[in-house]
Amino acid sequence: MSVSKKRKSSAKTKRGRSHQSLTKVKLIKCAKCGKATLPHQVCSFCGSYKGKEIIKPKIKKKKEGK
Ligand SMILES: [Zn+2]
Repeated sequence: MSVSKKRKSSAKTKRGRSHQSLTKVKLIKCAKCGKATLPHQVCSFCGSYKGKEIIKPKIKKKKEGK
């Protein structure tokens, strides 16, 4: 294994790490239920896309009152 000749300066380290940032998850409001969902995808809460129901919702609604 080679040994580096010179120590990398803190500025060079930081410059390299400037490309490692994570991108924010983009969310849109569902047209039907108004909950935050991923764009260009079927809503995971009500199963609708562009106001139309495509699939049956996976998550069942919680019953009010126990
Ligand atoms: Zn929805």
